[in-house]
Amino acid sequence: MTTSEARRSVAPAIDFTATKAALWLSLTAFFALLVLYFVGVDQGATSVFGDNMYIHEFVHDARHLLGFPCH
Ligand SMILES: [Zn+2]
Repeated sequence: MTTSEARRSVAPAIDFTATKAALWLSLTAFFALLVLYFVGVDQGATSVFGDNMYIHEFVHDARHLLGFPCH
């Protein structure tokens, strides 16, 4: 491998502009809060998908693993 071939294989720099960082932070926070809501809060009469327990039952083990009160 020559020096010029080694230079071509260098990975490009990661773009960490403030706008892009704010966008990723916002999306990450939104999805984290969404998961936290469905695991920790959504159940029964307060469910966003009606008066059912489908989501509660689906995330039930995660709920107990994270220590949220359940039953
Ligand atoms: Zn439970």
